[in-house]
Amino acid sequence: MKNIPLLLSVLFMINSSCNTQRQHAQDDMNTTFDSLTTQLVHDFMTLNPTWALSIGLHTNDSTLEVLTPELRKDKLSRYSTWADSLQSFPDDKLSMSNRMDKSMLLNYFNYFKWQSEIFKSHTWNPAEYNIGEGFDLVINNPDATLNQKLDDVLARLYRVPAYFDNAKKQLVNPTPEHTQLAITQNEGSKYIFQKILPDSIAKADISDIHKKKLQDAIQSALTEIDSYIAHLKQLQQSAQCTRNFRIGKTLFEQKFAFDIQSSYSAEEIYNIALKRKSEILDTMYTLAKGLWPKYFTGSMPSDTLTTIRALTDRLSDAHPHRDSLLQTIEKQIPQLEQFIHEKQLLYLDPKKPLVVRKTPPYMDGGGAGASINDPGPFNKNGKTYYNVSLLDKYDEQQAISYLREYNDYILQILNIHEAIPGHYTQLVYANQSPSLVKSIFGNGAMIEGWAVYGERMMLEEGYGQNAPELWLMYYKWHLRSVINTLLDYSIQCLGMSEAEAKRLMTREGFQQEAEAAGKWKRATLSQVQLCSYFTGYTEIYALREKLKAKQGKAFSLKAFHEEFLSYGSAPVPRIAEAMWNK
Ligand code: ZN
Repeated sequence: MKNIPLLLSVLFMINSSCNTQRQHAQDDMNTTFDSLTTQLVHDFMTLNPTWALSIGLHTNDSTLEVLTPELRKDKLSRYSTWADSLQSFPDDKLSMSNRMDKSMLLNYFNYFKWQSEIFKSHTWNPAEYNIGEGFDLVINNPDATLNQKLDDVLARLYRVPAYFDNAKKQLVNPTPEHTQLAITQNEGSKYIFQKILPDSIAKADISDIHKKKLQDAIQSALTEIDSYIAHLKQLQQSAQCTRNFRIGKTLFEQKFAFDIQSSYSAEEIYNIALKRKSEILDTMYTLAKGLWPKYFTGSMPSDTLTTIRALTDRLSDAHPHRDSLLQTIEKQIPQLEQFIHEKQLLYLDPKKPLVVRKTPPYMDGGGAGASINDPGPFNKNGKTYYNVSLLDKYDEQQAISYLREYNDYILQILNIHEAIPGHYTQLVYANQSPSLVKSIFGNGAMIEGWAVYGERMMLEEGYGQNAPELWLMYYKWHLRSVINTLLDYSIQCLGMSEAEAKRLMTREGFQQEAEAAGKWKRATLSQVQLCSYFTGYTEIYALREKLKAKQGKAFSLKAFHEEFLSYGSAPVPRIAEAMWNK
């Protein structure tokens, strides 16, 4: 008997030395994998200058990308070679983070192939061709001198004729909806060539000859844009602009799999959303009944939906004044931070403050709204801004309607979603993850799902003292992401009409007519994206509940949040796999 411990310890030693050798081999393989992906990301960005520019990498600003069939073929062949190299790394030899990177890269390469050969939106969506944003980003590059930027602008301008020539050749039978969008957006982008670029040239310290060259090139770019718009208008009149914007079930499921990378199919998530909608309406009715005597003297309507609407309308009376919107938001940020500290919900890095500001004019689309402006993975020390578009262009009636929508209750939920612990907090964590792949190919459902999850989590933890008013308004807001999923699937796959869609939004979603009209338009122009919010949320919430059940008393909400975010913007099922198998 006495010998057994000795035997065990020898066995343990043999075993651990084997483990060590295996560990070394794995470390080597992970190091090789890291070098491969670093090189691959570099080559990928060189091959995709438009993408590079959009994430703040200004190394190739002088190139206006013209995606001809030849270039597409070249990309496909490069991606196939890169996919082969990635496949040579067996999953079980890679670290969890590298395994995620591998699957995200392979997913993108397969997605590009599917887009090029099956989905082919470059042949039916004329809005994919627009040079405005690229020029805008180049001229607003914070790290270059004005003269450098104008050199890049000139080089790009010389490629504009080839750009639109290719666009006209690629389009075969566009949808009327995307054609109209392309006309509106290209008209809008002329502003950059009529105002932004000429203003920059006027300020530049360059020779008159150089100025003239730039001005001439700008004039010819404007002519090209006009000619593209004229071409689209001609298409509108012809029989070649009839494609149905509804992509149908098969393509929708395929796009859903690439975009969302969920463990559910689109149809499954649609069914979950249907069930969630009726649960929410039941809960809202219970809350509304309880609140009725506090806000109304008369008897309650017999209809459930009318009762809920009466309450949400009454609660919308409490809203900030149009002149104090920015300050109201600014004041709420430290309150959210304090709540998270007190409740120990997750660590917030004090060295990465969030700056609340008025949306700069060059980023302002004209409408009101709020967004997080992230410095991008290549500028980790840059500031993160919370852009708030003010209601400058709104008349009194429009402003009131907007402020009623973003009332005192909803504004708090919006700040949770956009800022803390939503998008901004997630971004800070994602930027700490060393993987560039996860930042560049970030999964939209994880990003949006986290923000939507954060809203419910904060309220569950007692934010707002469990006031039934805040809960009721929260559910109204949450219903939006549920209905987004229902709309997307029903419109794209089940032939839902505009009248049916608007009825769903205004009656069962308590949305304003204007909001419903905007959403209908968005749902005809995009596919799958509207499902990302609810799908990501559903998977994150389910993961948390599963881990809670598994870990019992050892479960810590703070540890769950921090670990979940530490993987960066990877697809939720990949993160779930890592956390579950730990
Ligand atoms: Zn969001």
